[in-house]
Amino acid sequence: MIPVLSAFFFVGQRCSRHVANSFRTAILTVPDAQNCSVTKPLIRSLSNWASTFGYAGEPAASSGTRHAVGLFGRPELTRPEDWQRLADETEDRCDMLLAEVLDTAPEDGVEVVALIDEMSDQLCRTYDAAECCRNVHSDPRWRAAAGKVCVQLGEYISRVNHHEGMYQRLSGALAAYESSLAALEKRETPRLGPRQLAGWCRESVMVAHKLKQDMEQAGVHLSSESHRARVAELAAANGHFGAAFNTALTDPSKVGRVRIALGRSASLEPSNVAALMVSEPDEQVRKKIYMAAGKSPACNQHLLEDMVATRWELARVQGYPSYAALRMAGGSLARTPGAVVAFLEQLAADVRPMAEQELQALRRLKAASSDPSPSGATIHAWDVEYYAARARQLLITSQPSAVLRYTVVPSVLTGIRHLLWRVFRMEWRISEAAPGEGWAPGVLRCEVEHPELGPLGVVYLDLGDRPGKYPTAVTFPITCGREVPPTRGGGGRQLPVMALLASASGTCPTTGKPAMSYRELRVLLHELGHCCHNLLSRTKYQHLWGTRCAQDIVEVPSHLFEYFASDPRVMAVLARDRSATAAGADGAMEDGEPLPEGLLKELVAGRSVTAALELQQQLVLSLVDQWMFGEQPPGGPYAEVNASVGTPEGTSARATTISEIWRQGTSPELRVGHLTIYGGAYYGYVYARCLAAQLWRLTGLAEAPLDPVAGNLVRERLLGPGGSLEPLDLLAGLAIGRAAGTSLGSTSDPAAAAAAAATAAGATPGAVAVAARQRRLEPWQVARLRQRGLDKALASPAEGGFLQALQGGFAPRSEPYLELIRAGRGGA
Ligand SMILES: [Zn+2]
Repeated sequence: MIPVLSAFFFVGQRCSRHVANSFRTAILTVPDAQNCSVTKPLIRSLSNWASTFGYAGEPAASSGTRHAVGLFGRPELTRPEDWQRLADETEDRCDMLLAEVLDTAPEDGVEVVALIDEMSDQLCRTYDAAECCRNVHSDPRWRAAAGKVCVQLGEYISRVNHHEGMYQRLSGALAAYESSLAALEKRETPRLGPRQLAGWCRESVMVAHKLKQDMEQAGVHLSSESHRARVAELAAANGHFGAAFNTALTDPSKVGRVRIALGRSASLEPSNVAALMVSEPDEQVRKKIYMAAGKSPACNQHLLEDMVATRWELARVQGYPSYAALRMAGGSLARTPGAVVAFLEQLAADVRPMAEQELQALRRLKAASSDPSPSGATIHAWDVEYYAARARQLLITSQPSAVLRYTVVPSVLTGIRHLLWRVFRMEWRISEAAPGEGWAPGVLRCEVEHPELGPLGVVYLDLGDRPGKYPTAVTFPITCGREVPPTRGGGGRQLPVMALLASASGTCPTTGKPAMSYRELRVLLHELGHCCHNLLSRTKYQHLWGTRCAQDIVEVPSHLFEYFASDPRVMAVLARDRSATAAGADGAMEDGEPLPEGLLKELVAGRSVTAALELQQQLVLSLVDQWMFGEQPPGGPYAEVNASVGTPEGTSARATTISEIWRQGTSPELRVGHLTIYGGAYYGYVYARCLAAQLWRLTGLAEAPLDPVAGNLVRERLLGPGGSLEPLDLLAGLAIGRAAGTSLGSTSDPAAAAAAAATAAGATPGAVAVAARQRRLEPWQVARLRQRGLDKALASPAEGGFLQALQGGFAPRSEPYLELIRAGRGGA
């Protein structure tokens, strides 16, 4: 994609949970029925909770003008009509920035990089905010106005992304810098002067390469005019699939209903289907719903086929063998589809015996059930969730509502504030959003600060339940973080703003207050992982900020955060019954009574009861994704692309439709929204599971999950760099950072300083040279340190290694994650 577009459609923000939910709906899991918002259509407002627990009184730092704040705290957004004006102004500003880019000489190339990043930031500030508003606002007028602006800016972005003049300035700038470095090495006079050379830091080089790559993925570099035009056309078409596909999934008229008995029918909306798959005791009814849901929404069939064909051609015209290869080429850990498929297939073989055991247990449950089934004890697709829920019930002897006493929302928020302070030294100040600042009643505003780093940004929290609320937990970026260039009146940091939507659908049995199920608490932690990644990211450029990192490591922090929910020491902070403590108090960490350890054990075990089956399902999805966006997609014949870019071999016409990959008769892929957003990159979730399982131990969190030293390591090595390090360098840095066994902030430790230098080494020879100069290390020293990190990461699991080299790329080691599943703790 393009500099800006890649930022928009960037995967990290849409978290696994939502799409995974749509998927589960059709095929497998779905947790407790009480999570289903359909079953509780009441409007719940958080307003009172906040004040009851003393948040409302806290100043929101800049509260002097709180009455005047607009949507997301932006004074320019007070009425829906403001979107249009904002979009027009954004285009004007970007036009001016573009003119500046075209006016800049290649010798001042680093300024070109800064200007393009600025442009991308201007566009993202409006587009991301509009995208968020379009999805979350409770007022349809706001949603409509924002949606219109998304289309308008999408078209503008597409034009910018194909701007040849801008591309030439960027490549010229990079070429001038690289030729100067080469000249220096040969002791010749470089083209750039010392000041011009010094302007290029490691991150500038990195972002210049990324921007260039992104523009090339939009085809701007192709020599043939007709190819360029075709790529532009395909890229524009590709931009629409995700929204169309996912909109159909939440449109009751498109998903339809199924008649299940005389006078009884059920909506095929994902959340409803999910709930029924868990709770409906009649197998025939479950089967009917499953089969009907598996063919709905029918309109997604064509959309999916178009998408596969469009993406395949998009890749081919640009000389990539497949769309998956194109996605991985932009800087990923996997690097090649071959590495991904080899990893997935190996893991599938390894997990099969465990999945078989779980299935056996479900079969026994079915055989023993009082309702004799005509299909005997065979477990069908529509049985898995139902019997998995029964298996959980057997393990969990406590009442399902027992946990809700400890997860009342304000108490959980108090716990989260303590957790994030203890581990990351982040101070979360929570207050109610000002009128007009939020998008629905009860939205909370969290201002986050760090004692040394200063203000970190703002997170809006929307935990209320209401009809029409965005169906799954999600984090939307609204403003990105970055350094504001001194030339743009800054010098400080632009603080990020995000929206976190999650749910609390339970009710505390003693106080009647809204509370979270165990699953909802995990999901909240997952989303907080994304938010903290963004809050703690310290990149210079917004294009590399936080979750704008490589597609296959973006879910690692959020999966790591999920482990907090299985640790009794952390849960003793998060889940407490604080109802007896003085109302209005801000809640000390040890106030009230903690969730009993026995209950937590049951909850963790309950979650793990079908962990292998669930992993298997993720593997199937990931493999399907690799196939759909691979060299030989289903359908076809995929051979009529312009011969000048090479004709694929062996593309004989295939009658296979996508659905045949799955089960005959249904098309679960019609409901897997992630396949549109994460096309070719869905494997990132499996990578994240395996990496998080290892990093939980490696960073020291498993030993001491509340330890700020471990937190510091995670902050500096995993979250701070955002996308400013290639994934392999990032992970090598973590390996060597842990080995240094210390807080890496201290440069008095030579090993730590060396490690910092090693990760600073980046991917290009130029960057190594710059890093070496800055750290006063010889290039060979830097290279050796970097190699040491890689050696550690690639060592055997017994020696602490957590990566493997495979087929020209890299994958996590999976043994530790499988070990957790085996031990009944693999629910993460
Ligand atoms: Zn996520």
